[in-house]
Amino acid sequence: MTPDEMRALFVSWEDEMLALLERLVNIDSGTGHAEGIERIVDIIEPMLQELGLTTERRPSPVGPHLVAYGPRSPQVLLMGHIDTVFPPGTAAARPFRREGARAYGPGVIDMKSGIVSLLYVVKALARAGGLHRHVRIVVNADEEISSIHSRPVIYEQARLCRAAFVFEPAQSMETLTTSRKGVGDLTLAITGKAAHAGAAIEDGLSAIEELARKILALHALTDTKKGRSVNVGIVSGGTARNVVAERATARVDLRFATKADGEAVLEQIRAVCRPSHPGYRVELTGGITRPPLERTAGIAALFEHMREAGRAFGVEFTETSSGGVSDANLIADAGVPVIDSLGPVGGRAHSDQEYLEVPTMALRAAVAAWAIGRWLRQAAGVTADAAV
Ligand SMILES: [Zn+2]
Repeated sequence: MTPDEMRALFVSWEDEMLALLERLVNIDSGTGHAEGIERIVDIIEPMLQELGLTTERRPSPVGPHLVAYGPRSPQVLLMGHIDTVFPPGTAAARPFRREGARAYGPGVIDMKSGIVSLLYVVKALARAGGLHRHVRIVVNADEEISSIHSRPVIYEQARLCRAAFVFEPAQSMETLTTSRKGVGDLTLAITGKAAHAGAAIEDGLSAIEELARKILALHALTDTKKGRSVNVGIVSGGTARNVVAERATARVDLRFATKADGEAVLEQIRAVCRPSHPGYRVELTGGITRPPLERTAGIAALFEHMREAGRAFGVEFTETSSGGVSDANLIADAGVPVIDSLGPVGGRAHSDQEYLEVPTMALRAAVAAWAIGRWLRQAAGVTADAAV
């Protein structure tokens, strides 16, 4: 299939892609709303089965994760999530709507339009000589809570694949994401010694005072040049104005660009959190919750392939990095080259202003389908069957 034929195919599919998007947006599927997640799976699973893929529902406390795969190797992983951050009732309150070139509704860009793109990319690969038999698909139900339940499924499925493509939204028509920071989540709990603030202040050891010292030292570990940040986002402590505070706690967010720096900064945080006086007890819990998506040589090569493919459509792809995380972080940690943000362009995710730039959905999906097909033929040496 030529780039022009691929583009024409997606232009002919645009209306049905939008109709499917409308159906998906109008079903609430906030993380944990298992019934809504199941209704979405009920729609997309038969589409993949019709294409001849084997499907499996992997049960979890927050609803099923969907796995689908063709019979042939090598395989490429296509991935997306169906959960949103919106509670039940949101879809009824502000259903899918279109205004000019934009569409609105809960999850419209993060990432129900990406799910639609993924499904039609599989359909297009089927038309391009049965190449869909080389895909493996994971659609999870808990990305918005750090994929805590789907994590083993993602690692297991990624390791069966030679390359991976994640359909999270893009910042612009030309951007693809090749690196993302890792994340840590830590809790600092300090115990001092309570005393009357007027009558016996010298008997006390203020946990708040100790926490204040720790906060300054923690924030000093931020190094934006290294892509590293340490932020105390929540503090609490004390019981009354006239009491030397016995307890104080803080919640710490950590971002880092490389695995090595993640380990280094954790070590520094442990050093910072040693008590400044033997009377204090300082407890540090938590740790790294998502590894970084580091731009490996494999990812650079995969991006180079995407850039060449994009040119056939008049799109000059550039690489972006993001401070936010996605399942691409986990796929990269599994050792599989991954390109993220293959989905359409939009913005204001996680807000009621969330929008999709409608024309980008079909066009970016056409580029993705053609690029993935070309990768299978060229990089993986797959011979396509005669075009169906
Ligand atoms: Zn997302």
